[in-house]
Amino acid sequence: MLRNDDQLDQWDRENFFHPSTHLAQFARGEAPNRIIKGGQGCHIEDRDGTRLLDAFAGLYCVNVGYGRPEIAEAIAAQARELAYYHAYVGHGTEASITLAKMVLDRAPEHMSKVYFGLSGSDANETNIKLVWYYNNIRGLPQKKKIISRWRGYHGSGLMTGSLTGLELFHKKFDLPLAQVIHTEAPYYYRRPDLAMSEADFVAHCVAELEALIEREGADTIAAFIGEPALGTGGLVPPPAGYWAAIQEVLAKHDILLIADEVVTGFGRLGTMMGSTHYGLKPDLITIAKGLTSAYAPLSGSIVSDKMWKVLEQGTDENGPIGHGWTYSAHPIGAAAGVANLKLIDELNLVQNAGETGAYFKAALTDALGVHRNVGEVRGEGLLCAVELVQEREDRVFFDASEKVGARVAAALLDRGVIARAMPQGDILGFAPPFCLTREEADEIATKTAGAVAEVLG
Ligand code: PMP
Repeated sequence: MLRNDDQLDQWDRENFFHPSTHLAQFARGEAPNRIIKGGQGCHIEDRDGTRLLDAFAGLYCVNVGYGRPEIAEAIAAQARELAYYHAYVGHGTEASITLAKMVLDRAPEHMSKVYFGLSGSDANETNIKLVWYYNNIRGLPQKKKIISRWRGYHGSGLMTGSLTGLELFHKKFDLPLAQVIHTEAPYYYRRPDLAMSEADFVAHCVAELEALIEREGADTIAAFIGEPALGTGGLVPPPAGYWAAIQEVLAKHDILLIADEVVTGFGRLGTMMGSTHYGLKPDLITIAKGLTSAYAPLSGSIVSDKMWKVLEQGTDENGPIGHGWTYSAHPIGAAAGVANLKLIDELNLVQNAGETGAYFKAALTDALGVHRNVGEVRGEGLLCAVELVQEREDRVFFDASEKVGARVAAALLDRGVIARAMPQGDILGFAPPFCLTREEADEIATKTAGAVAEVLG
């Protein structure tokens, strides 16, 4: 199609409904647009030729980095051979069957099957439906509520937007739905009382959960959903002992555990799965982003042996499971997934995420650590955050209206580095591709220090 760039800009403002965007400012031309043209390794390039170091891997999903010909060729070959066939009533393709095997080989031992969807949101919708079905088959129709954490992120559908514990995703959408209840986030830096030790804070999280279960009634609660390490809500590794203590409570009350590994799955923390990293034994695992490194949309719900047996019983009693998307296990997504997981293995990218991640966190700490407005530098593997505060000693947060996080992210962008200003709090998020080099890690750290100094002095 013939067009000049000005026309593309105008079409963008006039026709394109961008997600997570200030619609009015964008339409009026007050908010910038950026049209991305290419990418290689950890860098992207826009149509004006500006090259940026993408320290957030898109939306922490381009884990193998941009421009991988192996994946592009696998997609092209699949499209030429068979672009689509459905997966209903026992149909499949070599790619979807192979990918299911590869996923289960990388999942904890007790997992049994994988259902493929398109996005993290739809995979979590699937998970909640499976939990409800499971309890109906077990004769527990009243056991349906789902516990999520404040600051958890699980998608932006009706149910998954409800599970997400961030105000922006509820406000004016009539969410959360009634079946969803929220509990304390395992966010030690934001503990309610600064005098609490990590162990005290874990005990506090457990007490909050137990009080919620007591209030609502364990016989009404089906599942607890959580990211092994909090993502969009702040990029926060859990305090030591958190998952062991939480799982003990869940087991006591017959509450299922859904590990949302959309971000942590396939290497982000320096181990293949976040569940293994922190000792979770989930009943369901959500995967998406890292499954294909976003070369094609694909997600999955991994189901445990324990749940699978009940699902089988359900279909013996009721007929085929009434759940499926046209694009479940889409062959092009599956081909991308197979090529992506192979590449991760061949290039040792999980190990690199762990090693370069540790180096990167140390570099950020060195560059920023003593600045009076840096409250905390935290991270695990290649998931790191810098939390900015008005007063480091007494942990005084900035007023949200000052938009400090967004201003520092903008100053960093001016220096050629993309970090993400996380949606709640002045938190700069970093989740670069796993092929990040130490030189690139140093560059991000140095430029972040420059951006912080420019905005905060
Ligand atoms: N779960 C987690 C942990 C996520 O981070 C996200 C997306 N950021 C989702 C679910 C939703 O995935 P999607 O945007 O693909 O629907």
